[in-house]
Amino acid sequence: MKISKTQIKTLGELLGEPLALGIPLKRLTSYRIGGPADAVAFPRNSKTLSSVLLFVKQEGIRHFLLGNGTNVLFDDEGFRGLIIAPIRMKQFSVDKDSSGAALLTAQAGIPLSVVVWRACKLGLHGMEPLWGIPGSVGGSVACNAGSGGSSLGDIVSKLTVLDTNGKEIELEKGTFSYGYRFCDLPLKSVVLQASFQLSPLNPDEIMKQLQHFRNTRRLSQPRGFPSCGCVFKNSSNGLAAGELIEKLGFKGVTEGGAQVSNVHANFIINRNMAKARDVLALIEKIAEAAYNKAGITFELEIKVVRSGE
Ligand SMILES: Cc1cc2nc3c(=O)[nH]c(=O)nc-3n(C[C@H](O)[C@H](O)[C@H](O)COP(=O)(O)OP(=O)(O)OC[C@H]3O[C@@H](n4cnc5c(N)ncnc54)[C@H](O)[C@@H]3O)c2cc1C
Repeated sequence: MKISKTQIKTLGELLGEPLALGIPLKRLTSYRIGGPADAVAFPRNSKTLSSVLLFVKQEGIRHFLLGNGTNVLFDDEGFRGLIIAPIRMKQFSVDKDSSGAALLTAQAGIPLSVVVWRACKLGLHGMEPLWGIPGSVGGSVACNAGSGGSSLGDIVSKLTVLDTNGKEIELEKGTFSYGYRFCDLPLKSVVLQASFQLSPLNPDEIMKQLQHFRNTRRLSQPRGFPSCGCVFKNSSNGLAAGELIEKLGFKGVTEGGAQVSNVHANFIINRNMAKARDVLALIEKIAEAAYNKAGITFELEIKVVRSGE
């Protein structure tokens, strides 16, 4: 259902600024793919985000929460409804104790890479493997983003979320579960901010680790073309998804403007103005081959968001 003019006006009043109308979603995603969204809200603080969430619930407005858009594939037809993107919520604080350990709190909209860099510069250890993950804090917590054997869930000590009524709830570590690329937040709640428990370490040692993870990422991931990171989750029985896709002979295979990366076969890159349908066609072919030839049912790591038309 289309969002009405009256709803657009009210949402603008709640936000204190007009909604952005008809923005191509390719501008808000790392894939550079996606048609126009009916409307996009960029709340600047928890109060406006809360009132927008309550309004969309009351009015039954179709909506989708977007962070940095680095794990989402939108339709070529765009999105009917409201995109809520709290990427302007960027407060950050550090609370150190006498031992040098610190609780670092970041709002949902800050890029994770900024938080990792600041932590490292402050001599705080624990986030180095996450360097280079291009998501926002909110999206990265929601996906339990990770790398180099560690994930955000391991260092999150507290989350502040908003429920679907826009009510703020604090979740202490242990009251929510997380696993490989998922975080089991209470139904549909929105991450407002996350606190990470970090320990002090010699700054030279931190920089050495950062360099190591940076080099590993640079050597193992394709550069120079838009992508969404790994498309499929690794399955639990042995081979990493990328290795299996490579074995199945998909490296370099193209469909329209999309191509299975020659560097890392679990990346499908936007090589030349790819459409969502190109990427989806490759996904389908790979999933079918993995099932038919290796008996593996691949699960998507990226989120495919349909237009709702
Ligand atoms: C080049 C490249 C490399 C990557 N490398 C890695 C990697 O090493 N490890 C890894 O794990 N991922 C990796 N990714 C994928 C991606 O960066 C992560 O999944 C990231 O954490 C997603 O964050 P985001 O803000 O972009 O979320 P989005 O893509 O905007 O959204 C992802 C999901 O989170 C939800 N979401 C967004 N914000 C919130 C919020 N505030 N509260 C609740 N839910 C929310 C969305 O609704 C959606 O379901 C990579 C991506 C790229 C393009």
